[in-house]
Amino acid sequence: MNYEGVLKKMQTENGSPIQYYLVFENDFLNVNQLLDKKVAINFLRYQCLNCGLQKKIYRQGFCYDCFFKIPQAADWVISPEKSKAHLDIEERDLEFEKRVQLEPHVVYLANSSSVKVGVTRKSQIPTRWIDQGAHEAIEIVEVPNRYLAGITEVALKDHVSDKTNWRTMLKNDIKDENLVEWRTKLRQYIPKEAAEYYLENNSETNLQFPVLKYPEKPKSLNLEKTPFYEGVLKGIKAQYLIFEDNTVFNIRGNEGYVVSITVN
Ligand SMILES: [Zn+2]
Repeated sequence: MNYEGVLKKMQTENGSPIQYYLVFENDFLNVNQLLDKKVAINFLRYQCLNCGLQKKIYRQGFCYDCFFKIPQAADWVISPEKSKAHLDIEERDLEFEKRVQLEPHVVYLANSSSVKVGVTRKSQIPTRWIDQGAHEAIEIVEVPNRYLAGITEVALKDHVSDKTNWRTMLKNDIKDENLVEWRTKLRQYIPKEAAEYYLENNSETNLQFPVLKYPEKPKSLNLEKTPFYEGVLKGIKAQYLIFEDNTVFNIRGNEGYVVSITVN
C-alpha cells in the first residue's frame, strides 16, 4: 500500500490505546494498523502549510515568509503571556486573535518525562496532552482567555519545569506522580488575577499510547539528511513514530514535508 501527502500533525482519538491518524488530501491512514509492519518513508518535496508553495520549511510547517506574516505563527502562540486580544490590541490579525485568545484556556500539569506546566485551549484537551506524550495530566485553572493562562504559566514555571525531555518521554523512563498533590502545592503561586479560576475537583487523566516496544537509545530521523528510511513500526507516542531499530520520527517536526509512505 502506498500513501502520499504533506505531513501535518497526526489527528488523535483518545482510547485504550489512543488512535492515531495521518490525514492526507486523498488518503486517510489509521497509523495504529501499521504496528509490526515494515514502513518506508520517502521525502519528496516541501509544501508550505499556508501558501502551498514548494518552499523550504522554516518552522511549524510554514515557509519563512508565511512564518513571519500569518497570525497562526505569532509570538503569543508560543508565549501565551504576550496575548493582547483581551485589550483589543492587534498583533497580526485582531479578528483571528480574538477568536483564538478569547476562548476558555486551561493551565495544566502533564507528566511526560517529569512534571511540567503548560497552556492550551480547553477544546484541545486531551489532544494537547496526547501530542506531548504525557501518560498523566491534570488541569490547574480554567480561565476565560489566553493571557490569564499565560501569566499563570509564567508564575508556576518558577516552581515546576515547562519542558519535556523527548528522549526520556520516548524511552518511557517515567514515574507516576500524584498530580493532585502537585496542584495543591502549586496553588499558592497562581497570580491574583487567576486565583478565582482554580480547579480543585478535577482528577488525573491517564493516557495509554500504542507502543509494543520502547526504544533504548532513540535516534531522530532527519529527512533532509536521510530522505529515504525503512523500518518496522513498534509504537506511536506523542507525535513520534517509533521503529524497531531505535529510529524515531517526529511527525510534528516535519510538518510541510511531502512524503510517500509505503507499507509492506
Ligand atoms: Zn508559505
